Amino acid sequence: MSIAKFIERLLKIKAFCVKNFRFKDRYQELWLEIKPYKNGALCPYCQKRGRIVRTLVEPRVWRDVPVCGREVFLTYRPREIDCRVHGRLQEDIPWAAPNARVTYRFEYVLLIYCTIMTQKAAARLLKIAASTMSDLLHRIITRVRTGHKIRKLKMIGIDEISYRKGHKYATVVYDLERSCVVWIGAGKVRDTIDRFFNEELSQYQRNQIESGCCDMSETFIGALEKWCPNATLVLDRFHIVKALNNAVDEVRKEEWRKADKSGKKGLKGLRWLIYKHSSNRSEEDTQTLKSLYMGNRRIHRSWVLKDEFEQFWEFSNIKRAEEFLDGWCKIAIRSRLESIKTFVETIRRHKHRLLPFVEIRLTNAVAEGLNRIIKIVKNRASGFRNLEAFSDLIYLTVGDLNIPDQIVPKFRTI
Ligand SMILES: [Zn+2]
Repeated sequence: MSIAKFIERLLKIKAFCVKNFRFKDRYQELWLEIKPYKNGALCPYCQKRGRIVRTLVEPRVWRDVPVCGREVFLTYRPREIDCRVHGRLQEDIPWAAPNARVTYRFEYVLLIYCTIMTQKAAARLLKIAASTMSDLLHRIITRVRTGHKIRKLKMIGIDEISYRKGHKYATVVYDLERSCVVWIGAGKVRDTIDRFFNEELSQYQRNQIESGCCDMSETFIGALEKWCPNATLVLDRFHIVKALNNAVDEVRKEEWRKADKSGKKGLKGLRWLIYKHSSNRSEEDTQTLKSLYMGNRRIHRSWVLKDEFEQFWEFSNIKRAEEFLDGWCKIAIRSRLESIKTFVETIRRHKHRLLPFVEIRLTNAVAEGLNRIIKIVKNRASGFRNLEAFSDLIYLTVGDLNIPDQIVPKFRTI
């Protein structure tokens, strides 16, 4: 076996033959002179052989995956061909996307690395600069997602995420049935979400949406009610629970501000306790909260109301659930706790959007799960320069399209 043949086998690629090789930079770089397998000269559009017109003078260079810490470069002088159908053009390059400076295999490895490690680490393993990495990632993901259409969206979830300190927000649209992100847009205003419904979905697709889930913001509710005429709107359970928790915490904060030194001592550590669901509480936690009956009536009262509200999610009969809700609101409104009263008003205003939960059981729980992954992605990157870079990683890790799977199959090796 010739050494060129050996390298060819080692690199395990059927798309080209190795004609020659040399090392550069004290063996740090391996340069392979290659040619397409079976002599190429194929039209990139119809894959038919064309008449060779001329060979480019300057060879083109593609970066391949490093081997044993050595950078690998492929060089080839593409030819201009004359296709009977498509006319004069550059022959098809089987190992790389048009205009790409890296091979498909490099792209594949890059995508896989970026789903499991920081971009910085991936860049180091692939021996490229971190800035080159995000550019490459953006180019690949944009190319792969071009022409991609959202399909069969029946359960839609809308939420907002912050992607940068200083209150930079984006709107995220989820397919709750298939648990993935279908769209990300800058901002969290009505215009943003209108753009999604207007540009990404046809009227037929909008009519096909059966249910929608969002928080209590008028922006998302308004959009869902306008664009999805056949959808049952269910307010997201997690957002409601959070709003109630915040209301209880508001009571705690108020009491904290009023308390003297010894009083503050008694209120210490309550914050996390208040946010806990009863099922996650230890016996000791519950005792601490119960002892508030003597220690601080106001916090105790708000906590009891919060605990009672948990029952709402257990109902399976809509009539019973409504009775419960009305009863709860009646008691809560008399609590003389301002933040709780505000919560009751919200609940009353949105009652008809809360009750369908009993029957549909739709929540953004899936979205919450995805948001956790998104958070990991965000933390891993320690912030993003812009939304584009963030969206790239979201689409890559939890998007509706499996991006690495879009790379030409024979190059999907690590
Ligand atoms: Zn052609």
